[in-house]
Amino acid sequence: MKKNELFLRPEGILIALLALCGVFSLAFMILPRPNPSKAKIRQSSINVKDVAANVGTQQQIEKLKAAMLTSWQQEAHKKGLSYAIPLRFQGAIVNAAKLTKGEKVIALTFDDGPWPQTTEQVLDILKSNNIKGTFFVVGQNLKNYPKLGKQIVSQGHVIANHTWHHWYHSFNPQAAAFEIDRTTDLIYQITGVKTNLFRPPGGNLHNGLAAYAKGQKYTVVMWSADSIDYKLPTYQS
Ligand SMILES: [Zn+2]
Repeated sequence: MKKNELFLRPEGILIALLALCGVFSLAFMILPRPNPSKAKIRQSSINVKDVAANVGTQQQIEKLKAAMLTSWQQEAHKKGLSYAIPLRFQGAIVNAAKLTKGEKVIALTFDDGPWPQTTEQVLDILKSNNIKGTFFVVGQNLKNYPKLGKQIVSQGHVIANHTWHHWYHSFNPQAAAFEIDRTTDLIYQITGVKTNLFRPPGGNLHNGLAAYAKGQKYTVVMWSADSIDYKLPTYQS
């Protein structure tokens, strides 16, 4: 069963922003930074005898830095880009954002795609209004329309897991793993993103999927407002 849902979910923007912060943090972490206080100490204690040794040590440090950087890059490539989810949301169900008084936040999430035409139209509308959203994709649809998955990510949106088949029945852990892992793997293969966001089809938290996702430290993302557009009759041209 397929349905198009337009959800208003405040956590999405927050998570997207945090993800962006995470990327920048990573960039800062891997950039070698001078430590002024240590540099000063080293400078003050230097003498002629130590020069050769220091040059050798410095070279070793540079080599080590290069090796670490390569290792970081390899690891990042292997793991894919993940969204930087705060620890308290990892393996947790998020139903709504807790807003401070007077705060007005809205986050858009789009489920069940990608679909030709409609996903493209949504992407165009978001682009022309400079809005970012979160797309919970169904694995088998992404397999059929990989270009749309690439477009979602390249246009700065968040891509997330909505199972492979969008089935509603109960799953044992192996079947749940198949539904979720296979979709995450495909998202990674196509976009380079290893998503850690999951939304169960129909919002069902009790059929084995959410339990598996939580065990794998996914953030299980629900919603606080529903456009119910999937109940409207299908447009016939
Ligand atoms: Zn759905």
